Amino acid sequence: MAQALEKLGRAQGAEYRYDTPVKRILTRDGRVSGVELPSGEILDADAVVFNGDANALASGALGDNVRPAARAITPQQRGLSAVTWCLHAQTRGLELQHHNVFFANDYPSEFSAIFAERRITQQPTIYVCAQDRSESTRMVEGERGRERLLLLVNAPADGDRGGIDDATLSTLERHVFDLLERCGLQIERQTGDGVVTRPQDFERLFPCTGGALYGRANHGAFASFEKPASQTAIGGLYLAGGSAHPGPGIPMATLSGRLAAARLAADAA
Ligand SMILES: Cc1cc2nc3c(=O)[nH]c(=O)nc-3n(C[C@H](O)[C@H](O)[C@H](O)COP(=O)(O)OP(=O)(O)OC[C@H]3O[C@@H](n4cnc5c(N)ncnc54)[C@H](O)[C@@H]3O)c2cc1C
Repeated sequence: MAQALEKLGRAQGAEYRYDTPVKRILTRDGRVSGVELPSGEILDADAVVFNGDANALASGALGDNVRPAARAITPQQRGLSAVTWCLHAQTRGLELQHHNVFFANDYPSEFSAIFAERRITQQPTIYVCAQDRSESTRMVEGERGRERLLLLVNAPADGDRGGIDDATLSTLERHVFDLLERCGLQIERQTGDGVVTRPQDFERLFPCTGGALYGRANHGAFASFEKPASQTAIGGLYLAGGSAHPGPGIPMATLSGRLAAARLAADAA
């Protein structure tokens, strides 16, 4: 998806600047006028589509002038964060599908621990994505080598308030791999293999989220309708991405990009 979008953009004359944070979004007379990079370089713009988390705007991380573009959310209103393990390892014992969920005994208690007590449960349900597999590429026990795995357990989005410490992580990790074993899945790995990402790491990747991966929580009948729309109170500044309407996930985030593009084109016309 990302490569297809990049190719399409280039064909339309777009230029890409990777690994280039935007320090501030600039405005003049209440309208967007460009962005400032950490080097001090200024890129003039008639319109800016921001697809970082909308809470970054509301909390002033992109400048006080653009705070009115979105409403701030409290840490309690954030959706889930996660601890993930990315591994390249051999598996045995159980034939994985592309998507696999290994349920703990008490699934609801995981969510009361996260949302009411702001802590990670030590008996979590585990999602395993075996990304080299699809329905048509089943691997045969004994023939397969190492494969790419993403393991994910839910966590509170408190990555900007300490996150998960080393001791909690190491107990959690033991429980995660014990549960997988009890369910019949052995993953051949050494402690320290692969890449572990905690809420505090997701906070660094997605600033002002506390590590929330899916924008604001969808608690209650109306929360889904409280996500910010593509148009903001600042002329020429538009929102897209997982924290904007209609919500997180690649299909939804893509729709939000289309909505922002349509709004921008209509305003420009
Ligand atoms: C481990 C994981 C698992 C997930 N699983 C699911 C799932 O199962 N289902 C689901 O629906 N969703 C899931 N999501 C969420 C989903 O991936 C996101 O909703 C979606 O990727 C959002 O896409 P996006 O393009 O809006 O934003 P992102 O992919 O978050 O891209 C935004 C980019 O903007 C960059 N950025 C932010 N601020 C600045 C700045 N000031 N200057 C420059 N760049 C900046 C960020 O670094 C980031 O690269 C998951 C996310 C993660 C991390």
